[in-house]
Amino acid sequence: MSDCLFCRIVAGAIPAKKIHEDATSIGFADINPQAPHHVLFIPRRHIATLNDATAEDRELLGHLMVTAAKYAREQGFSDTGYRVVMNANRDGGQTVFHVHLHLLGGRAMAWPPG
Ligand code: AMP
Ligand code: ZN
Repeated sequence: MSDCLFCRIVAGAIPAKKIHEDATSIGFADINPQAPHHVLFIPRRHIATLNDATAEDRELLGHLMVTAAKYAREQGFSDTGYRVVMNANRDGGQTVFHVHLHLLGGRAMAWPPG
């Protein structure tokens, strides 16, 4: 989708600080980091929101989780902990409509989230 910001990042048309690439997903640094480590893991394929995911997307979405955990382990903050978040639609605070898993780490998180 040419009008989707994250599809453009996947295509390389908009620069991003990529930290991970594989056949079905990429990971890149969030442009407005909310923690010392703030990375977004996204499927290469456009899925607008979690509401649009189907049973066929289970492996793809699970892959984002496993990839995020692997990155946290490699970067040395998996034992101290981290948070993964997927915002959906207005009340979830979603602003970019191409599903993305936030990985936040390197500081203690508050609960409940705002
Ligand atoms: P969300 O509010 O869950 O939709 O998250 C969207 C995230 O994308 C925000 O944390 C933004 O800082 C981030 N973001 C927006 N534009 C870019 C960009 N060009 N490169 C990297 N991250 C971005
Ligand atoms: Zn997209």
